[in-house]
Amino acid sequence: MAAQLVLIVEDNEKNMKLVRDVLNFHGYQTVEATTAEAGLELARTSQPALILMDIQLPGLDGVSALRHLRSDNATSHIPVIAVTASAMSNERRKILEAGFDGYQQKPIKVKEFVAEVRSVLNAGSRSDSRNAQEG
Ligand code: MN
Repeated sequence: MAAQLVLIVEDNEKNMKLVRDVLNFHGYQTVEATTAEAGLELARTSQPALILMDIQLPGLDGVSALRHLRSDNATSHIPVIAVTASAMSNERRKILEAGFDGYQQKPIKVKEFVAEVRSVLNAGSRSDSRNAQEG
């Protein structure tokens, strides 16, 4: 089975490295963007199986980026997990209400993070259950 591709959108170098290292260690391939704008373009061109989206980004923020992803037929099927430093429970609710498929708080807890990545990937493409049994 080919390694699944995960797009990481993260503007902090240390967080990027941690997430990349954890995913690569667990056998996932990664592509990276440090802005939402670059992430949107990479999502269209690389068609990742999953996107990890930082919320606080220079320029477009992660919630706005999610809206763009969902309104584009080329990317609307891709599940997106929010990864944010925000600890407030009302922030968490706002993020989940925005339509993210999952939520991880920074600094990430590696075991929990990997479990969520697996779980969302196993659920397959959004509104396309046919893919859920593949791989
Ligand atoms: Mn950030």
